[in-house]
Amino acid sequence: NKQVIFRDYVSGFPKESDMYVTTSTISLKVPEGSEAILVKNLYLSCDPYMRSRMRNIRGSYVEPFEPGSPITGYGVAKVLDSRHPDFKKGDLVWGITGWEEYSLISKNERLFKIQHTDVPLSYYTGILGMAGMTAYSGFYEICSPKKGEYVFISAASGAVGQLVGQFAKLLGCYVVGSAGTKEKVDLLKNKFGFDEAFNYKEEQDLEACLKRYFPEGIDIYFENVGGKMLDAVLVNMRLYGRIAACGMISQYNLEEAEGVRNLFTIVAKRIRMEGFIVFDYYDLYPKFLDLIMPYIREGKIVYVEDIAEGLESAPTALIGLYSGRNVGKQVVVVARE
Ligand code: NDP
Repeated sequence: NKQVIFRDYVSGFPKESDMYVTTSTISLKVPEGSEAILVKNLYLSCDPYMRSRMRNIRGSYVEPFEPGSPITGYGVAKVLDSRHPDFKKGDLVWGITGWEEYSLISKNERLFKIQHTDVPLSYYTGILGMAGMTAYSGFYEICSPKKGEYVFISAASGAVGQLVGQFAKLLGCYVVGSAGTKEKVDLLKNKFGFDEAFNYKEEQDLEACLKRYFPEGIDIYFENVGGKMLDAVLVNMRLYGRIAACGMISQYNLEEAEGVRNLFTIVAKRIRMEGFIVFDYYDLYPKFLDLIMPYIREGKIVYVEDIAEGLESAPTALIGLYSGRNVGKQVVVVARE
């Protein structure tokens, strides 16, 4: 069983050498007396929150990785053996699994049975998995969006952002996204149908830049990056604006977060900035599928993935998220069947 092992806790930017590939043996039968399932992993998801699991801080909404043990995270897998009443051999599932060829998953982990297979299976690492649910719950539940509103999304071409932007366009909002390369800006405008997009790395003055794109201010900010961008957004928010505080990736590798100079604007402009965690909304997953499957099938929503081949490529793929090497949802293919 080839595995990607987490070496030890990390400070600063993670490096490939913080993980290593090794091989161990695993029985392909679930031990008697347990309710576990044994899966063959097909697709693994690289997600920014995994950086927080590389710190030895307990008691947050996710626990740290275990040094010396395989990385765990979202993935798509096929059930090879099961003693769990809800899963049987041959089922396709998505949920928390290991960065390894085969995983024994205890009954406590959150696993969803895959029902629709007329779309790429890898979609369950992204648009039809955790990232999709994040975009869906963050936009519809937290932002209370209305037709015609002005929406800004940071890290907009990523796994979550590309979908939020398309939801907002389908609702009839004016949508602007930021991203870190020209290629991504082109995707936003030409593939995902954003009204405007800009490369934040080329902007000297983010406050002035946002003012240019939103002369009347921003109603909704879908926050993925934090730091200087959040600061610049705050002064450009309209009265009663909403910010979905989804993530702050620009802060994840800093030992100390940057100060948010304009934070008090939240009070002055009665902005509701609400933290949320996707887990709380998983009961909406059937509703989400009802909404999204027709859009995917009719081509009204498209999805870009960045596919890395082979388990060995997983560490590079993961750390690439923090320098923006991924274009779209970063997926690792372990096996295709
Ligand atoms: P992405 O697919 O967007 O990948 C990460 C992207 O972040 C990179 O491609 C890069 O794009 C951008 N980025 C990296 N470093 C910086 C930086 N220093 N400043 C600005 N941008 C940076 O990831 P996801 O769509 O999966 O996640 C987006 C956000 O949503 C993250 O903050 C994540 O933590 C959060 N999230 C929150 C969840 C929740 O439950 N609250 C669940 C899932 C995700 P670029 O080239 O544009 O810089």
